[in-house]
Amino acid sequence: MIMDEKNFDLIVIGGGSGGLACAQRAAEYGARVAIIEVARLGGTCVNLGCVPKKIMWNAAQIAHAAHDAAAYGFNIELNGHNWDALRQRRDAYVMRLNSIYAQNLKKRNIEIFQGHARLCGTNKVKINELVLKAEHIVLATGGRPAVPRISGVELGITSDGFFALRERPARVAIVGSGYIAVELAGIFSALGSAVTMVTRGDKVLRNFDHMLSSSLMQIMLDEGIIFANHAELMELKFDEKNLLVLSTLDARALGPFDAVIWAIGRQPMVEDIGLDQASIALDQHGFISVDCFQKTNVAGIYAIGDVTGQAALTPVAIAAGRRLSDRIFGGMEDCYLDYKNIPSVVFSHPPIGTVGLTEAVARERFGTDNITVFSTEFVPMYHSMTTNKPRTAMKLVTKGVDQHVIGCHVIGVGADEMMQGFSVAIKMGATKKDFDDTVAIHPTSSEEFVTMR
Ligand SMILES: Cc1cc2nc3c(=O)[nH]c(=O)nc-3n(C[C@H](O)[C@H](O)[C@H](O)COP(=O)(O)OP(=O)(O)OC[C@H]3O[C@@H](n4cnc5c(N)ncnc54)[C@H](O)[C@@H]3O)c2cc1C
Repeated sequence: MIMDEKNFDLIVIGGGSGGLACAQRAAEYGARVAIIEVARLGGTCVNLGCVPKKIMWNAAQIAHAAHDAAAYGFNIELNGHNWDALRQRRDAYVMRLNSIYAQNLKKRNIEIFQGHARLCGTNKVKINELVLKAEHIVLATGGRPAVPRISGVELGITSDGFFALRERPARVAIVGSGYIAVELAGIFSALGSAVTMVTRGDKVLRNFDHMLSSSLMQIMLDEGIIFANHAELMELKFDEKNLLVLSTLDARALGPFDAVIWAIGRQPMVEDIGLDQASIALDQHGFISVDCFQKTNVAGIYAIGDVTGQAALTPVAIAAGRRLSDRIFGGMEDCYLDYKNIPSVVFSHPPIGTVGLTEAVARERFGTDNITVFSTEFVPMYHSMTTNKPRTAMKLVTKGVDQHVIGCHVIGVGADEMMQGFSVAIKMGATKKDFDDTVAIHPTSSEEFVTMR
């Protein structure tokens, strides 16, 4: 069968954070761009990630504030929380974002194709009954939640299913210990669910600085979250009352639960996108292998964002996509994304802000004698009034005699809005002396970063 063919300068597969940013930047340089999306524009971040998650986090923050209100003199009677009303408002907002993305693409004359795309050669992509051709093709297909290989896995849900919940489960198990696991746990717990964290090891946020991981775990325990540690899963099934029970290899029966959420990590979307048609190489973890210019092993084909397995965060996918288009279409030949010192926030309760190396990695990489660490822990002023007193903890990891700040970590009220500014300073090579020479903003928690001794 002869198929219709259309020519472009750039084809982007995947209309998520990275793909949209890359396509729009290329179009701003005058490139003829096609973007192909199989689901909804905006990708994971807008539809099933950062955006709806942050709205749920905001709801949880309000629940905490309502709880603290009496300590500040308010007489508030809470009459419950309507999960489904919030879901509907949240989803309506996300739908508005979907249409804003479509309008933005149209404004830049980017052609949008709806459907599943597959490579069919090194400069062609097949979508439905159409073949698109371009000198440059970007793979920005993102990822999806991983699930354990156990019997009854289909009885649980993932973070995708979390966003589809019509009501809040009263008893919920979160399987996993990464940032998505602790974020979902915090939301459920604040809104009134009994939460059990089911982890393979004995802590959360294993890859984060030890101070963050241990502080958060203590705060979660104090809040009443239960931990089932060292759990090797065996089976998920319904009991006689139609409630979920999770059994482990060491014969524990965890539950009963109304919902079990798999939050054990994410996998790249690399299946059925025609990688074999262009002989695209994967790395040992199954992600698309790229160099610092986002180039795959095949000339003219690039990959950006979660599908490359490099710092799976929205701003990272966006930055990589923009820089790629700056390089290909904007004449900025050496433009690439530096993956060092990427700041991030965990929207736990309280939140975490982090940038740079953990203390453990810094000591291992540069030798323990070359590392000086400054840390502090305190009850933030907000909690001076409240009955519950989660502590704020902060740490600066510095290197060498000049004490270059190579790691900055905080857990506590306001941490989510603290780290962006400090990450500029660290990216610029700030030393501990630069921090000390900066006048504090009082009364805040962040002032402790410039007054630590
Ligand atoms: C619960 C959750 C919370 C998160 N919270 C945060 C946060 O707070 N901050 C943050 O920075 N990051 C967060 N992330 C991560 C963030 O969402 C991702 O890093 C980001 O979306 C990656 O962008 P991307 O463009 O690589 O992929 P995606 O946004 O996943 O986009 C890929 C797109 O490609 C499409 N696609 C796939 N295959 C095909 C095909 N064959 N044809 C056509 N289209 C295809 C998909 O439908 C999808 O729309 C979160 C993720 C999750 C799951």
